[in-house]
Amino acid sequence: MKNYKKMMGLALTGVLSLSLLTACGDKKADPTPTPEVENTTPVETTLKTVQEGKLTLSTNAEFPPYEMLDDSGKPIGIDMEVAEAIAKKLGLELVINDMGFDVALLAAQNGQSDIAMAGITVNEDRLAVMDFTDSYATGVQVVIVKEGSEVNMDNLGDYQIGTQLGTTGYIYASDTPENGGYGEDHVIGYESGAVAVQALVNGQVDAVIIDNLPAAEYVKANPGLTTLEGTWVEEDYAIGVQKGNTELLNAVNGALNELKADGTFQGIVDRYITAD
Ligand code: GLN
Repeated sequence: MKNYKKMMGLALTGVLSLSLLTACGDKKADPTPTPEVENTTPVETTLKTVQEGKLTLSTNAEFPPYEMLDDSGKPIGIDMEVAEAIAKKLGLELVINDMGFDVALLAAQNGQSDIAMAGITVNEDRLAVMDFTDSYATGVQVVIVKEGSEVNMDNLGDYQIGTQLGTTGYIYASDTPENGGYGEDHVIGYESGAVAVQALVNGQVDAVIIDNLPAAEYVKANPGLTTLEGTWVEEDYAIGVQKGNTELLNAVNGALNELKADGTFQGIVDRYITAD
């Protein structure tokens, strides 16, 4: 999996150069006011969003503890609270739209949502079609198997692997063996991580590749499952916005970094991730 780590290095370089570009070459950041532009209102209220006065978030609330539904069907989780805090900083009201993972990314790409947050890994392909804030978390792809299973990190390619469609777990695992994957024949993409894990419980697949925090929740909820020792791939999560919308990207990134600096971000994480 070394090659993917290398790719992530590239991806991060992309994020950095993007912020540099943003800092030096953003037309919208031109301080010279045009005659039509009202220059007296604070920055946050002039931010153009999908719906005036609102920050529209697309997510896939099936990725605990980053996003999941509470008993009343309301999306909660780390990403949701961070988004809420970002919206507050920007003087906007957060609107959460829950949808499929792929669609949540597309919504931000197409400008139907302002931001996408769904434990989204920054990678080269996604950087080609959308912009990302600085990273706010590290994700580790791990492998879930049944207790006592013969499957291990080295022989995974001999078995059937379940993943969530559209996720990096699916993308990497279904890649060719030359690229560190196991080939499409060995990988089944399910509509959610939960369904992939159910397929493992039912014996339809021999392993599930998924991000570590949801993995821990699924293993806890399903006796007889365990996570293999070791890391399959390490990744960075960030907030996605429409490509080229540097004003929004800078605003969201600025708010995110303030939340990191003042401890709000860590406070949210600590409420969801407790050391057991
Ligand atoms: N981090 C993975 C990805 O971005 C999975 C995210 C998810 O399932 N919500 O593809």
